[in-house]
Amino acid sequence: KTESDAADQARKSGSVPAEADVVVIGGGSVGCSTAYHLAKMGVKNVVLLEKHKLTAGTTWHTAGLLWHLTSHDLEMELIKHTRELMTEVLPEETGLETGWVHTGGLFTAYTQQRFDAYKEMTTLAKVFDIEAHLLSPSEIKEVHPLVDISNLVGAAYSPQDGTMDPAGTCVTYTRAAAKYGAKILENCDVTSIETSTDDYGIKRIASINTNYGPIKTKNIVNCTGVWAPYVGEMVGLNVPQLTYKHAYVVTEPIEGVNKVPNLRDHDSSIYLKRQGDTLQIGGYESNPIHCEHVDKDFAFGLYDLDWDVFSRHIENAFISVPEIEQSGIRSTVCGPESFTADSKPLLGESPEVRGFFYGSGFNSGGMMYGGGAGRELANWVIYGKPSIDMFAWDIRRFPGMLLSNKSWLHQKTHEMYSKHYSIAFHHDQPLAGRNARKDSLHQTLADRGCFFEEKHGWERPGYFMFEENGKPIKSHLLPYDYYGNYDNVKHDNYKYDELLRKDYTFDFPGDVHKQLARESLTCRTSAAMFNTSYMGKLFLTGPDAATAARYLFSRDVSAPGKLRPCTYTLMLNDEGGIESDLVVAKVPGLTGGGILYMFTLIKTEFYMTVGGATTEYCKGHLSDRLSDLGIKCNVDDRTNDMGILSLQGPKSREILDAVVYINCNFTFESVPPAKCNIQYLNRISFVGELGYELHCDMQHMPKIYEAIMQDSDKHGICDSGYRAMESLSTEVGFHHWGHSIRYDDNPLEARLMNLCDEGADYVGSDAINRLRGTNPNKILCCFTVDEPVQLFGHEAIWRNDEIVGYTRNAVHGFALNKEVAFGYVNARKVGSSDDEAVLSGNYEVERMGKRYPAQVFASSPYLPTFNRMMGKYSDEDQQRLLARMNA
Ligand SMILES: Cc1cc2nc3c(=O)[nH]c(=O)nc-3n(C[C@H](O)[C@H](O)[C@H](O)COP(=O)(O)OP(=O)(O)OC[C@H]3O[C@@H](n4cnc5c(N)ncnc54)[C@H](O)[C@@H]3O)c2cc1C
Repeated sequence: KTESDAADQARKSGSVPAEADVVVIGGGSVGCSTAYHLAKMGVKNVVLLEKHKLTAGTTWHTAGLLWHLTSHDLEMELIKHTRELMTEVLPEETGLETGWVHTGGLFTAYTQQRFDAYKEMTTLAKVFDIEAHLLSPSEIKEVHPLVDISNLVGAAYSPQDGTMDPAGTCVTYTRAAAKYGAKILENCDVTSIETSTDDYGIKRIASINTNYGPIKTKNIVNCTGVWAPYVGEMVGLNVPQLTYKHAYVVTEPIEGVNKVPNLRDHDSSIYLKRQGDTLQIGGYESNPIHCEHVDKDFAFGLYDLDWDVFSRHIENAFISVPEIEQSGIRSTVCGPESFTADSKPLLGESPEVRGFFYGSGFNSGGMMYGGGAGRELANWVIYGKPSIDMFAWDIRRFPGMLLSNKSWLHQKTHEMYSKHYSIAFHHDQPLAGRNARKDSLHQTLADRGCFFEEKHGWERPGYFMFEENGKPIKSHLLPYDYYGNYDNVKHDNYKYDELLRKDYTFDFPGDVHKQLARESLTCRTSAAMFNTSYMGKLFLTGPDAATAARYLFSRDVSAPGKLRPCTYTLMLNDEGGIESDLVVAKVPGLTGGGILYMFTLIKTEFYMTVGGATTEYCKGHLSDRLSDLGIKCNVDDRTNDMGILSLQGPKSREILDAVVYINCNFTFESVPPAKCNIQYLNRISFVGELGYELHCDMQHMPKIYEAIMQDSDKHGICDSGYRAMESLSTEVGFHHWGHSIRYDDNPLEARLMNLCDEGADYVGSDAINRLRGTNPNKILCCFTVDEPVQLFGHEAIWRNDEIVGYTRNAVHGFALNKEVAFGYVNARKVGSSDDEAVLSGNYEVERMGKRYPAQVFASSPYLPTFNRMMGKYSDEDQQRLLARMNA
């Protein structure tokens, strides 16, 4: 039959609807789960299109392993959901088995550090009520008699792990989806996508074309696995993922394997899956094979295995389970899988094309994440956002400019693939794809000993490092060497890498820790200079900017008739969830800033500084809200054009007075420029000290920096970076979006109702009004631990022998000389959300399986009165801090 015959017939039988509320493209694990969740959550007209048969892409040949233990809190939750679907929900809803095989999962450790990483995971598992145990070598033998334990330090064991069956998974998802009204169409190829542009210039999905004809729809979810970039291209979007060949081999039968758990030997970068009486051996190589091109019609296909690349896994498997050496290899499976720049999937609505949802890039986890990912994609489509914090997977975590950078993506995906089983150290940094975004001070700071860290593609200062004689250590980043793979020469004596390795610890990082102490305490006793140019700099411009500002922020920043001091405020969603915390200043407008006000007399703009990593996210939130509200206002991103220097500390005012020719003794004002190239001077503190931010044209930043730093020795100022800033700001209880506050937290829970105006109408105000006078489900608290153990966040919070939450972020506070952490306490478990109850009881923080006594506070004990930020310093306090610094 010709294509048009097929289309005609499909139309006659009514199987191709003319319209759909949502079209899910791709019938693999992720697409089937998404269609299921959409239909179950009440979307009436859901259509799933698969160009071949269900599972034909990567899903059919997957290993299908589901492991609960990870170091990421919300991923654990997503995996838990998938397992519940496999074992309970789908069998109940369909009367069919999903093919789930319950095996348990064992993670073996050859080094103490690896074992420590497992201890972190098992502690986090307790928070999510996931059964997990740490095993000694002899206990490992009881669980998995075939493992050679002679060199093992220990293992983590997760008894509820198992294996998913590709066909069973997709059949039950789609059967249940059909039960809820979804249409599942196979052999239906999406060939092109039509968009339209609305009155506000926003591109939107209008319809799709298939070999069976068109379907009118406003929403599509691109779950086409390694083919996702082709579908993205149909609407001019980049899908930043690359395809690599990923493989496993199947052994001949081995006696005794039919009862052993699945096993991950991270130190050897392999996994061993039980498959009847055989084992499947798979792993991650340091020289994976990139597929430049995957044929559009590749279905139920495999590649030949490259033994030169794969054979190391077999050798490692012999060490792990020696019986394998007596067996042969029965078959090989090598297929395409997509990998991303940070090992996290790509989800969420495109900021450029409304109605286009990403749902791909699963980095060999698309089976175990499929259930949770489908649920969150459904939430995204229906409610405009997921039900839990999915920022780590949100397409808006990448700056737009990098999405089309192929060499950046190639380097990044290589590094992520080859480090897939490496220990996830909290301060690890990539060596790939560096120097993509630099500011005008980069070289100056590099020469002054700056160790840079990469965030959102930007090279931002991490900390500064010196030889014993005080000479700066220059740790310049070198071009990516692919760790010596693919005939590249591995860098020798690579200073950056050497410094990075100091952070490969779960303890305090030696010299780096000492330097962080120096930077932090200098800031508290004298002043520290931070280059915070990586922050996002967004402007609301246009005739309706003031109206927009009133609607977008939880505090009034509009101040008719005058320029307004910079205001710390929140952006909320309709449910009152915190979408961002930011500083907004009403500033004189630039000329020619936007088409809309070329013909008007607009003189002011609203300047927002937002967390650098959330720039695209905030832009997306602002643009979406503006188009929803029908307000004529632009969001200009001037991040690359402007630099920000932040001088913080008791001496900041006297230093600046001498340099900028402005009387800096103003109170939290935003002032116009004086006799220098400073565009805006804000009195603002990120660290709980008297402090100022100087915003300038990017090209002027080096000169301004030099003017301020010329007498740095006289004043005792130091350069400082984000590591110290994180410690300083957490110590005083300032928030970090994505950690202590997220969009699944509301201001009542975060103790931020003071940032929400009463009696005003803004996004989220209805929800805030409903919250007033009610009791929160959880409440943010500060915890300090006296014992000198490095906390990182994700530690369990115990109260009276019961887990009541987990820490979101934690640092060593150098002024308090304690560990400081923030986390939400579950009010239901306490029986009340009142501070009287919540702040009572016996608190402990569990880190790596060990509980430490903790003190609990409603806010940081360091700066409850904000005196220091007002420039009011007590001699006694300062002497104490100086003594600590010099100790
Ligand atoms: C060797 C190997 C082992 C793995 N082991 C595991 C594991 O142990 N655990 C785990 O969780 N994950 C594992 N994975 C990864 C997991 O299998 C994948 O992440 C997952 O199957 C991807 O599912 P998907 O739905 O995103 O994509 P796919 O399964 O590839 O589905 C995409 C579908 O889209 C269809 N399609 C493409 N273009 C169009 C179009 N234009 N119109 C209509 N349809 C289209 C394709 O035909 C395809 O069926 C493994 C992967 C490999 C290769």
